[in-house]
Amino acid sequence: MRKRVSVIAALAAVAAMPLFGSLTKPIASYDIRARLLPDEKKIEGSEVLTWLNDSGAPVSELRFHLYLNAFKNNRTTFMKESGGSHRGFMAEDNRWGYITIDRFRIRDGSDLAPAMAFLQPDDGNADDRTVMKVDLPSPLAAQETIVLEIGFTAKLPKVFARSGFSGDFFMAGQWFPKIGVLQDGVWNCHQYHANSEFFADYGTYHVEITVPQKFIVGATGQRTGQTVNADGTRTEVYDQEDVHDFAWTACPDFVEFREPYSLEEPRVETEMILLVHRSHLKQKDRYAQALRNGLEFYSRNYGPYPYPTITLVDPAPGAMAAGGMEYPTLFTSMTTSWMPRGVRLPEMVTIHEFGHGYWYGLVGSNEFEEAWLDEGINTYSEIKAMSKYYGKDRSMIDIAGLRIGSVDYNRMSVIGSRRFDPILKKSWDFINGSSYALNVYSKAGLMLLTLEKWLGEDVMSRLMKTYFERWKFRHPTSEDFIRVAEEVSGKDLRWYFDQVLRSPDKLDYAVSGLAAEEISAGEGLFEAAAKEPPAKDANASASPEPMLKAYRSEITIARLGEWFFPQEIRIIFDDGETIRETWDGRDRWKRFVYLKTSKVVSAEIDPDRKVVLDVNYANNSRVLGKKRPAVVKAALGFVTWLQGLFTLISF
Ligand SMILES: [Zn+2]
Repeated sequence: MRKRVSVIAALAAVAAMPLFGSLTKPIASYDIRARLLPDEKKIEGSEVLTWLNDSGAPVSELRFHLYLNAFKNNRTTFMKESGGSHRGFMAEDNRWGYITIDRFRIRDGSDLAPAMAFLQPDDGNADDRTVMKVDLPSPLAAQETIVLEIGFTAKLPKVFARSGFSGDFFMAGQWFPKIGVLQDGVWNCHQYHANSEFFADYGTYHVEITVPQKFIVGATGQRTGQTVNADGTRTEVYDQEDVHDFAWTACPDFVEFREPYSLEEPRVETEMILLVHRSHLKQKDRYAQALRNGLEFYSRNYGPYPYPTITLVDPAPGAMAAGGMEYPTLFTSMTTSWMPRGVRLPEMVTIHEFGHGYWYGLVGSNEFEEAWLDEGINTYSEIKAMSKYYGKDRSMIDIAGLRIGSVDYNRMSVIGSRRFDPILKKSWDFINGSSYALNVYSKAGLMLLTLEKWLGEDVMSRLMKTYFERWKFRHPTSEDFIRVAEEVSGKDLRWYFDQVLRSPDKLDYAVSGLAAEEISAGEGLFEAAAKEPPAKDANASASPEPMLKAYRSEITIARLGEWFFPQEIRIIFDDGETIRETWDGRDRWKRFVYLKTSKVVSAEIDPDRKVVLDVNYANNSRVLGKKRPAVVKAALGFVTWLQGLFTLISF
């Protein structure tokens, strides 16, 4: 009976789509029944998948993600790559997770279960069962739709990477059989890797979740129905169009807060739903304010938040590993009961994960293959939002006189890093998790911030809005981003993106030489007419009076990294005169020479700190006769520690 009901519901949902006015052409729509078995840590599920072959050619095979199988044993690709730990949370024995398919058929009755086979398209690891293919009895023509009925059991792992349980807290992410993305007739359906996230097509979701009465539930989309069942359970119904995933959470210790949110310009009407664990209730206002800030910032800067709900999930203590993760219209943040106000972890994670609702949720780039498009663009957005709402110089830390802003915080991870990988690389091809993180988050974020400071805020703002508007509900690539950037700025930016996306090197300029020497008005033998000082330089000022002292000042700027970038140099003379020079930054070095009655006292590259991608500011300036100040090691040590904590837990 359950099956019949789901088929009818799916048909109703598909038929009703145009009435709801969905913004996208649904490719993969799901009608799911899920029943939580809290003692067994399992979800019994059945789904009806309505999938459109949106390619131009027939397809004879379907591919599915079975993500939970990443947690099945210690030989899966995820476990091998992560060494059994993920973001610092160790996998515990006997807490494995997996997904089994109990039934798989086409709606007309053809049983596809015998045709199911596991594939390992990325690494050939036969122990990995996170991708499955099914051969169709006959090809599905282009623009034809197939309806599949799939029965499954999801065993959640003890949470250590996004999805799982801790006590009676449940986070169900990547929990159901999910079809891959067919692009130009080729399946894009990667295995679940330690460093990678996800990729899916948009569609309509209708999900009915049954839990024991005591559980409070949160899920993607809007709650459209609720029934109390005779067996002591409750069924909640959720609907959402124009999303490419569905996640839900359940815990008896959540306290639910609902708050309407509206914005005049642009017009936004939505409902904030906060599920805060009872032990973190003191942090509720911090979460709520951060979410309001996120809604305002992203709506104003990119486009109005379009969904009727946004749900913030605060994982239970002990389930921090579920925190800091994004799903459509729902995200997990994190905090502790003791988190000091000046450590803005809950704010940063809230804004970051909410922001993924744009860069991942609304703009559906491929997180497996080009993670910077979601993490980098989102880090850039997060830096700007955090700086705006919490103070540029103190947006991350403001405690006991120690202040760290988002820009510096992100610079810290890039500064001290080894350079193994470029930003643009398949997520599982990075040498390790920290190289992945520092490249696709911090370096990519700083790369965009540097671009903004060079192009100007107005141009960058138009660029980001255009990219968002053009690519929302679609699957852009890095090339698409570059095309928009060049189109909006009217500039050739290939030289910049080729360096910063594709080479693992660095951007670093230094004042490598600064000297001034007194020159006499004239020594040696001169022709009768030649009484002026001998030197004549393009930079030279008017010839000095013979009786005044004159100086030859020499400033040498060196490019220490492989990347080049246009530079400004501020040069100050001892009479107070300040000169600003510009240099295209392409050669290995550049020397500026001045013959003046005053001598140079200092030179500084990028005095306005626009080139935040420069990995070393300490060598950016020199003062005549002074050694460079040493970098404050203690502060660096603390920031590195803090960074470790933050990157460990933030997505
Ligand atoms: Zn992220």
